[in-house]
Amino acid sequence: MIDRLAIIGVGLIGSSLSLALKQAAAVGQVVGYGRNRQNLEKGVELGVIDRYATTIADCVSDADVIVVAVPLGAMRQVFGELKSSVRLDAVITDVGSAKGSVVSQARAELGDLFARFVPGHPIAGTEKSGVEAGFASLYQSRRVILTPLQQTAADAVEVVDQMWQHCGAIMEYLSVEHHDKVLAATSHLPHMLAYALVHHLSSLNDHEEIFRYAAGGFRDFTRIASSDPVMWRDVCLANGDALVLLIEQYQQELERIAAAIRDGDADELLKLFGRAKSERDSLIGNC
Ligand code: NAP
Repeated sequence: MIDRLAIIGVGLIGSSLSLALKQAAAVGQVVGYGRNRQNLEKGVELGVIDRYATTIADCVSDADVIVVAVPLGAMRQVFGELKSSVRLDAVITDVGSAKGSVVSQARAELGDLFARFVPGHPIAGTEKSGVEAGFASLYQSRRVILTPLQQTAADAVEVVDQMWQHCGAIMEYLSVEHHDKVLAATSHLPHMLAYALVHHLSSLNDHEEIFRYAAGGFRDFTRIASSDPVMWRDVCLANGDALVLLIEQYQQELERIAAAIRDGDADELLKLFGRAKSERDSLIGNC
């Protein structure tokens, strides 16, 4: 049970966490902070937060657990602002989609409090943003990855682990580097492909007609291109090295398909599609 929870960034991820903890009766008071007062007022109205603070200092000063749920590009500033007001025994965690940049910024800003910081990433989300997008079941049976470091206090890790378990999440532990490599492949690259596809098609002369005939497969594949551009700009900048490598390898894969089509190489196409289908069917299920 967390008596007092501070959420900095009351958007999809922060709101859903608060709603899930409230539903599980695993939290006392939730205080929110963000830049936009209307969003925070909406949060109170919807029962996502119990009250909001107008400064980060006020938001965190009383808190047992502080969750930083802002875009990656805003993390450093938030760490810098909260450190002088946090209780020394409080636990600080984040939800950022890349961990290397967050950890180095937290290390640079938090000083001695860095041992109280538990880097985290829920592998759950939607293409929607803001407080109204939050819902209590978002983390149910979804994985949450924690990437604690050698100096991270064991009791802080335990608190964050329990917090996510109360939301129904399945806990995983990875190193920071491994997390960023795996997530670049499974999440960051697919978002780039969706953005690139929609951007490319919309630049074609007859794009209105093309989109008019878009069917289920196109909608499924491109849904994530409706995600928040600020968030994905920040993910690209935060996990650039791993992502660029994968984009380059993917370009080679596309080139291989283009070459097989140019050559009329039916066997090569069948082999490639067959292998991809059986991999997906066995790893993710035929759904
Ligand atoms: P979101 O819905 O846009 O929420 C972000 C919140 O942060 C907004 O409510 C915004 O409120 C606040 N914010 C932005 N800049 C701020 C600043 N400088 N200081 C204080 N508050 C600030 O985004 P989200 O999807 O919840 O993403 C939040 C974090 O979760 C990101 O780090 C993202 O990488 C990570 N994440 C996202 C997903 C996903 O699928 N969406 C999944 C896993 C992890 P104001 O504009 O009012 O300040």
